[in-house]
Amino acid sequence: MTSVVLEKVRKSFGSLEVMKGVDLTVDAGEFCVFVGPSGCGKSTLLRIISGLETQTSGKVFIDSKDVTDAEPSKRGIAMVFQSYALYPHLTVAENIGFGLSLARRPKAEIAERVKQTADILQLSHLLDRKPKALSGGQRQRVAIGRAIVRNPKVFLFDEPLSNLDASLRSQMRIELTELHAKLGATMIYVTHDQVEAMTMADKIVVLNGGAIEQVGTPMALYNNPATPFVAGFIGSPK
Ligand code: ADP
Ligand code: MG
Repeated sequence: MTSVVLEKVRKSFGSLEVMKGVDLTVDAGEFCVFVGPSGCGKSTLLRIISGLETQTSGKVFIDSKDVTDAEPSKRGIAMVFQSYALYPHLTVAENIGFGLSLARRPKAEIAERVKQTADILQLSHLLDRKPKALSGGQRQRVAIGRAIVRNPKVFLFDEPLSNLDASLRSQMRIELTELHAKLGATMIYVTHDQVEAMTMADKIVVLNGGAIEQVGTPMALYNNPATPFVAGFIGSPK
C-alpha cells in the first residue's frame, strides 16, 4: 500500500498565492478527507498530487518515491471528478475499460478486469447499457469503475457526490466507505461538506486559504478544534 507525502508545497497563479507551504502525510490505506470552504485550494492540492498541476515549489512523494517531476500517468493514481462525463456512445463495459483499451491491453485482460470491477460495484447486470439508460448513482459508479479498473495505488476524489441529490449522496457515501474497505487502497477525498468529512474520514485535513488549519481524526477535530475556524467549520459547540 501507498502513502502520499507533501513537503512544503507552494502554488501561485501569477501574483495569487493559493497554496502556502503545505506539509502533509497521508498514510498507506488511509481514507483521508480534505475539507474546507470553496476556493481554499482543495482541488489545486489534488491536482498537484496527481501531477495535473505543477507546484511552484515543494515536493510530492508517493510510496516514498519522489514524483515531483513525474507525469500523471506514471504516478499510479486515478482521479474521480464531480462531473463524471461518460462517453454516451459507449456501453458501460466500454466506458469502464476505455483507459485499458487506450493503453492497448489485450482484449481478454480488459474483459476480465471490467468484469471484476463491475462485480465490485454491482454493475454486472448493466454492462451492455449506454449511459443515458442509467440512473445518476449508476453513472457515478461507472465513473468510479473507470478508476478502479486501472488498479491504482491511490484514488483521488474531487467532490464526486456534489451533483447528486441528498438521498443518493448518503447512499454513495456508504458505498464509497465500503469500497475503501474492500480495496484497502489509499484514498484522498475532497469535499466542502462537513457531514461527509465527519462520517467518511479516517483522517480529516482542514484547509483554509491555502494552508492547513488542522489534521486529525473526526473525533479529535470535534473534541479539540485547534482554531476558531476549525471549531466553526466542523460544527463544535465550543
Ligand atoms: P477549492 O477546490 O477549494 O474550491 P481551488 O483549488 O479550485 O479551490 O482554487 C483555489 C484558488 O486558486 C481559488 O482562489 C481559485 O480561484 C484559484 N485558482 C484555481 N485554479 C486557477 C487557475 N488555473 N488560474 C488562476 N487561479 C486559479
Ligand atoms: Mg474544488
